[in-house]
Amino acid sequence: MTTTTKSNGQWAVDGRAPLNPNEVFKAADGRPLDVRERVEKIYAVEGFDSIPDEDLHGRLRWWGLYTQRKQGIDGGRTGSLGPDELSDRYFMMRVRSDGGALTTEQLRVIGRISEEFARNTADVSDRQNIQLHWIEIEAVPEIWRRLEAVGLMTTEACGDTPRVILGSPLAGVAADEIIDPTPAIREIVDTYIGDPELANLPRKFKTAITGHPSLDVVHEINDLSLVGVVHPELGPGYDLWVGGGLSTAPRLAERLGAFVPPERAAEVWYGVVRLFRDYGYRRLRNKARLKFLLADWGTARFREVLESEFLDAPLPDGPAPAPSTSPGDHVGVHEQKDGRRYVGLAPTVGRLSGLSLLALADAAEASGSSRLRLTPHQKLVVLDVEPEKVDALLAAAAPLGLTANPSPFRRHTMACTGIEYCKLAFVNTKDTARETIAELESRLAGVELDTPISLHVNGCPNSCARIQVADIGLKGQVAKAADGSDEFAFQVHLGGGLASDERDEAGLGRTVRGLKVLASDLPDYVERVVRGFVAEREAGETFS
Ligand code: SF4
Repeated sequence: MTTTTKSNGQWAVDGRAPLNPNEVFKAADGRPLDVRERVEKIYAVEGFDSIPDEDLHGRLRWWGLYTQRKQGIDGGRTGSLGPDELSDRYFMMRVRSDGGALTTEQLRVIGRISEEFARNTADVSDRQNIQLHWIEIEAVPEIWRRLEAVGLMTTEACGDTPRVILGSPLAGVAADEIIDPTPAIREIVDTYIGDPELANLPRKFKTAITGHPSLDVVHEINDLSLVGVVHPELGPGYDLWVGGGLSTAPRLAERLGAFVPPERAAEVWYGVVRLFRDYGYRRLRNKARLKFLLADWGTARFREVLESEFLDAPLPDGPAPAPSTSPGDHVGVHEQKDGRRYVGLAPTVGRLSGLSLLALADAAEASGSSRLRLTPHQKLVVLDVEPEKVDALLAAAAPLGLTANPSPFRRHTMACTGIEYCKLAFVNTKDTARETIAELESRLAGVELDTPISLHVNGCPNSCARIQVADIGLKGQVAKAADGSDEFAFQVHLGGGLASDERDEAGLGRTVRGLKVLASDLPDYVERVVRGFVAEREAGETFS
């Protein structure tokens, strides 16, 4: 009797025959990044209708372009329409800013692009990118030209690629930094982003690198993270984590117990990406992230394969990072190691505009700064501010909707793109979150809240705003209101969190079975939860 084992589509084991439609279109082209040439020569000249489906809904992502949700359909709800019917003739464009690092010159270029080509939209995502909307294909080559003239790009900002590298927003400026991740991020980006050999991965590949003790890059939910530690004999370097990811099958990353010396950071990154490329599962798309391979292999086998097949030499064992000692969002005014200040500013749920980016660039320069960082918490940090100019910066930021002293609700609420632009959304996330924050600020103004309660608002079961690692995570869906009409609603998860929230360890929240909250009832619900927590908590108890 013969037994057959179903192929998982691992290139190194099963060969390269494509086993699902996405693998077919990636294999058919061979080099998905080559779509850029067609954009420049054909699509931008002949217009939207000249773009074939596999490029429109597939390969354009390799250059940071997603089709945008069609506006006004079905009262803003998906109804029975499929993703293709929901797409409009416009695109979301994700501008890549590895480490969240932007100069004021770059901020101005994005701001002007936003004004001219993106109807003044600009959202700070929780992956340290700026996202623009309403982009027409005809404008794309000119946008690329302007971005690349100042060292920015959209290369591999989406697609089955190594996405933007999260980096500590305080890289190189914090007095308490264990190690500056800037050289590692730079080497990886300069050497490998845009490399065709790494441009057809089983799924997206997310990286995070920090050397700051606040553990400020949500390292537990990335495919690969390097977290600053001090090895007792070898000095500062990184602790290696792999296999984190949220979405519909959340899993926290695990330590391999390996110490990465700083000069080997890029080599180790390249090794893990190639391991994922060659051994990652490509049969089922919903099983293709690295976390599924890690779950099957376990950390010991993963490390053994990494070291024996993909690295020049084994890695030494190393220590785990210490628990976070300060909030990882860096909001507020703080002293840098050189005596100047970094100023962490909170927009409301990451929403900005092209005009506000331009004004912020002016305000930053007037305060002596020429650089900013985006954070994985939908915030901004202005670096290098002269101490005597902090007040002027704060005064200039306030009319832009930016504050260094936000209410706890504004500070700890995030929202994904939602139904305004995202084709997968069921719910308007940004407006719902903004209205809820305003209500809570008014209703709970006198309530003392000395521990953060995070509220993460997602428009669908995908977890772009990290449902499962929030104190209160909200998953958008449609529900019936009392009069039988459809209403925006949320499934509730409670009790998640990450180390950057100053918890001892990260944890995934739990779905509260059957608990659905209508968007219109959200302020009432959160108010009840917060008041209940404040009334019943014991000393030092956190929400989770
Ligand atoms: Fe879109 Fe869903 Fe992601 Fe929100 S969570 S941006 S609705 S895919």
